[in-house]
Amino acid sequence: MKTFYAEEQKRHDPKAFLSSGAPQPNPEKPERVERLLAGAQAAGCTIERPMDHGLGPIAAVHTPEYLDFLEHIFTRWQRIEGASAEVIPNIHPIARGGSYPASAVGQAGYHMADTACPISGETWQSALWSAWSAVEAAEAVMAGAQAAYALCRPPGHHAFADVAGGFCFINNSAVAAQTLRRQAARVAILDVDLHHGNGTQGIFYARPDVLTVSLHADPVRFYPFFSGYADERGEGAGLGFNLNLPLQRKSGDAVFLAALDVAFQRIRAFAPEALVVALGLDAFEGDPFGGLSVTKPGFSRIGEAIARIGLPTVIVQEGGYLCDELGDNLTAFLTGFGGK
Ligand SMILES: [Zn+2]
Repeated sequence: MKTFYAEEQKRHDPKAFLSSGAPQPNPEKPERVERLLAGAQAAGCTIERPMDHGLGPIAAVHTPEYLDFLEHIFTRWQRIEGASAEVIPNIHPIARGGSYPASAVGQAGYHMADTACPISGETWQSALWSAWSAVEAAEAVMAGAQAAYALCRPPGHHAFADVAGGFCFINNSAVAAQTLRRQAARVAILDVDLHHGNGTQGIFYARPDVLTVSLHADPVRFYPFFSGYADERGEGAGLGFNLNLPLQRKSGDAVFLAALDVAFQRIRAFAPEALVVALGLDAFEGDPFGGLSVTKPGFSRIGEAIARIGLPTVIVQEGGYLCDELGDNLTAFLTGFGGK
């Protein structure tokens, strides 16, 4: 299977984030890339560098003011006396209906949902190339490949149209889906990451042409807390085109595969012409987040089950954090999927 990745994606190296109020090392480390590359190669994938696709495919799902913020905020932040080395928000609007702030600190709070997505001087370029890997994978599928894998890092599914969050800046899965829409009348996004794909849901919430389905640990006591519940079904023209399948903490392969069957029923009824898989590997039983208990053979069965839908598929890397099995879990998924 063709795999897309650019070296620039590794430069973003966030240092810290707050977990239950305590400063911790940021788990979205560049080393993830090495493990994932090795995992893709072990599955027989060939690694290719994407082209520079410009801002067009990214601006199709993100607002201009947000992209301007991502590109320039680090330089602006450096002019603040005593500011932190990375851009990290310390104040947020209670509601988003108010005025758009002019200051760097105000805009950081406006455009960043939490402290997990610090912005350094390398972040913008890494996020751009990550998104371009998704664009290139979508274009490979539009050109006739049955599937392609975008090794996206930084990940994307917690990024909304104008908000970063949860290690994510540009929503790569949304960019892939919107790119596929150039040819496909209907696209489905199936998010199997441990965490709810809240940004992806937000971007397509009012649209009937992109079905969003997410399996994840129940957000009642888990990130992202404010969304991911079963009663969120879309709005306006998009009502009925969002499906959330929250799973009990520590659920294993059997529960996950049963929920996947429910997802497939909805996807088949929608009759999409292409599929985006938001592939988080953090549902793994040994992942540091410890939210679900999917096993390595489980990832292989998940890959197999998704391949059986038979749709042209763009696989977009989302979460999955450092543990010995990270690369093996990717190999298991891709081998199960069957795309050489
Ligand atoms: Zn995740």
